[in-house]
Amino acid sequence: MSTLPLRVPVVREPVARAPAEPHALAHRDLLRGPFWQRIPAYRSIDEATFLDHAWQAKSSITRVSKLVETIEGMAPPGFVADLEAGMKLAPMSVRVSPYIVSLIDWEHPYEDALRTQFFPVASRLLPDHPKLGLDSLAEQADAPVPGLTHRYSDKALFLPLDTCPVYCRFCTRSYAIGLDTDEVEKVHLRPNDERWRRAYQYIASRPELEDIVISGGDAYQLRAAHIAEIGDALLAIPNVRRMRFATKGPAVMPMKILTDGAWVDALARVVEKGRALRKDVVLHTHFNHPQEITGITEEAMGRLFERGIVVRNQSVLIRGVNDTAETMTLLVKRLGHLNVHPYYVYLHDMVQGVEDLRTSVDTAIHIEKHVRGSTAGFNTPTFVVDAPGGGGKRDVHSFEYYDRDTGVSVYGAPSVKPGRLFTYFDPLHQLATHQQRRWGDAAERQAMIDEAIARARGRAR
Ligand code: SF4
Repeated sequence: MSTLPLRVPVVREPVARAPAEPHALAHRDLLRGPFWQRIPAYRSIDEATFLDHAWQAKSSITRVSKLVETIEGMAPPGFVADLEAGMKLAPMSVRVSPYIVSLIDWEHPYEDALRTQFFPVASRLLPDHPKLGLDSLAEQADAPVPGLTHRYSDKALFLPLDTCPVYCRFCTRSYAIGLDTDEVEKVHLRPNDERWRRAYQYIASRPELEDIVISGGDAYQLRAAHIAEIGDALLAIPNVRRMRFATKGPAVMPMKILTDGAWVDALARVVEKGRALRKDVVLHTHFNHPQEITGITEEAMGRLFERGIVVRNQSVLIRGVNDTAETMTLLVKRLGHLNVHPYYVYLHDMVQGVEDLRTSVDTAIHIEKHVRGSTAGFNTPTFVVDAPGGGGKRDVHSFEYYDRDTGVSVYGAPSVKPGRLFTYFDPLHQLATHQQRRWGDAAERQAMIDEAIARARGRAR
């Protein structure tokens, strides 16, 4: 009888992990103190004034001349003329809070991530992609009532107003948000009792609608009484189970949460009332860059956390702002540090006048790979493309076909628009020169798209 050799178990000594180097904890290093006082016009602004949300709103920059007075020669020569020319061509009007103005590096404005998001400069603009439309997500086509989009079976998007605490260059809703510009006459969605009532009636008449996003515009601009009114009206509809108030406010004017007690109380009351009814009411916000998060933000998010208000974040992937693995990882970890859940990172929508800000599906996939694993899975955002033409949000990896050379990706949305395929297009400036030339020829362009769709059809399930 043979005997098996005895196996001696190998006992490995546990290897002690060295404490992290300080740079690995950079997400906890937040800007504090009177940082705004380096801006000439804010030198004498004390903390109480700077934290006053009404002062922030009143002092927001809407014209180049006011910016010039505010930063008084900090920017390099030529920048102001470049900005003036950029504003004439932009589809969005400009509105930027003193908080954001204070965080911009005006000595190097061309490289600054916050300047890039809010102030257009003509020298960096690129021609629009030939397949681009103003309402690229076709929100108006899916709107049974003005300002109410019903695209997903159980979810609706309610736009009670069309103003925001800032105006972002890359806004998907540039067809409606902000003032008319030289380039665009907008669809206006002003607060209106009758329009709101029709929206509630529609929501109540569709038993499948369980989830309502209240956006805009921006929920920061709703008066406390409006928050209460909308909250009460929607919570009273039996089929509504979940509500999200959407606002960019915490990223651009976090002090409102510290100094507008009525607004925070109104939101907290809707959250508490929802909880008593076993309905979920949360806040969705929109940070794009770690530089937007300061000690003021930490305090503001802490207050919401104490009041039991869950905050989730939706970022947009923007070229020159957060399109590197390092920046996005820092943003995700910093949000987690504040108990804000990184929920989505959107590939930039195909919006008019901001082709310089878009990046490719390939870049999104690359960044996602690096972010995943850097922190807990529940704090890791899903990278999505909001399929132009109304396909809704698709995981960037879920394309039926993607040609990195032509930049054409094709997505299916079986539970949103069964049987249809949706195309997204990488920006032309990231393609090889010979591919860019093909896009310049209408017949070639159509052939590239037709081929991608044909290939996708063969694969779609
Ligand atoms: S805050 Fe939101 S809705 Fe308003 S301009 Fe910016 S992206 Fe658009």
